[in-house]
Amino acid sequence: MAPGGGRARLIQPRLRCDGETVLALISLRYNAKRRRRTGRRPADGRVTSMTTTAKSSGTSTSPRISARVGAIAESLTLSLDAKAKALKAQGRPVIIYGAGEPDFATPDYIVQAAVAACAVPKNHHYTPNGGFPELRAAIAAKTARDSGYQVTPEQVMVTNGGKQAIYEAFATILSPGDEVIVPAPYWTTYPESIKLAGGVPVHVTADETTGYRVAPEQLEAARTDRTKAVLFVSPSNPSGAVYPREQVEQFGRWALEHDLWVITDEIYEHLVYDDVEFHSMPVLVPELADQCLVVNGVAKTYAMTGWRVGWLIGPADVIKAAINLQSHATSNVCNVAQAAALAAVGGDLSAVAGMREIFDRRRRAIVSMLNEVPGVTCLLPEGAFYAYPSVKGVLGKQLRGRRPATSLELADLMLTEIEVAVIPGEAFGTPGYLRMSYALGDDDLVEGVSRMQRLLSSAE
Ligand code: PMP
Repeated sequence: MAPGGGRARLIQPRLRCDGETVLALISLRYNAKRRRRTGRRPADGRVTSMTTTAKSSGTSTSPRISARVGAIAESLTLSLDAKAKALKAQGRPVIIYGAGEPDFATPDYIVQAAVAACAVPKNHHYTPNGGFPELRAAIAAKTARDSGYQVTPEQVMVTNGGKQAIYEAFATILSPGDEVIVPAPYWTTYPESIKLAGGVPVHVTADETTGYRVAPEQLEAARTDRTKAVLFVSPSNPSGAVYPREQVEQFGRWALEHDLWVITDEIYEHLVYDDVEFHSMPVLVPELADQCLVVNGVAKTYAMTGWRVGWLIGPADVIKAAINLQSHATSNVCNVAQAAALAAVGGDLSAVAGMREIFDRRRRAIVSMLNEVPGVTCLLPEGAFYAYPSVKGVLGKQLRGRRPATSLELADLMLTEIEVAVIPGEAFGTPGYLRMSYALGDDDLVEGVSRMQRLLSSAE
């Protein structure tokens, strides 16, 4: 049975459809279903020639939701976050460690650039699909400044956030059945965007014993003749792991040796602590440039998650193909947001330096408090803004009349019993852990972990 409950159709007529036809087909199916339920015509009473055609064939057994989209898992991160926010809206004192975003406002000079852009008539119209030419050039210059990777503006595509860059990267290079090796714990979006693109995610898992970093032997064990690409992210969401220089190079050399693509996510490049350094893979392995796609964006560096500007950097032919895809999917990124991003990447890094200092203080506070909770152990993360404690020592114990056997059940119990929202490791492919973002106010941060301490001290 295909997702959505119906049988998948084996033979589909090959139709050439423009956007309008697709929309007409969608509303046709919706209205037909509605008519079956209500016995009524749609409110506008329109009957098109397409309606007639479909009515006469009228026996489609294709599932209501396509197999491809039906197979996408709900984002556990977002559903838990929504549940916690709903409780908060009811006035409950919920403390939410779920957010994957800085809790600061976007710096004012960036906001002002957007305000000014609103008044410029050029920005009220379509602009090039790949991004403002001046923004593509500024991103190329910023990349050379920050990571040392030299690229031309033609190698940059501006996207609706890093998330769209990831989706389009996979959609552009994967053919059906291509495998992508994804180190776990992974950010929940990677496997889903691989599947949406027709690929197959293959997970290799690392735990706290290696600082959540995978070894080349693990990658090699996962490689098959279907492997097309490997995902790399450092600093990592959810673990905060940062690969040191030699391991980044080793990873890249292994991919090069086996002629694999690397999708490297550099969105947390500026959030590294102590004397830990960020390294960009195509800088350490320059020969990889022709099979390497870099994902980045303004979201985390400039507290700009809601503005939705990211980018993909890669070989010019792949970027050109990805822009073709984007041209049919979303056209240009919002011009006002692009103007804000231009001010951000063209400016200095003082805003992120200030945030980093605050995150660093919270990082130390949350980790030392977590390590005092019975049954919990937590590594000091080296980057990003997440702690990823193991709660394996708590699972299976009696807690307020329940016995949570998984981190998912424990997260649920924590939300119900102490009104603390965390994301269970199941969301990241590694049960037994919790992800706790420390991008929240200092008082809340302390209060939430104190509640955890009280709850988990009573475990029997
Ligand atoms: N990569 C990673 C590792 C992330 O954590 C996120 C956001 N949570 C993104 C990419 C995407 O960021 P955005 O789409 O907001 O630019």
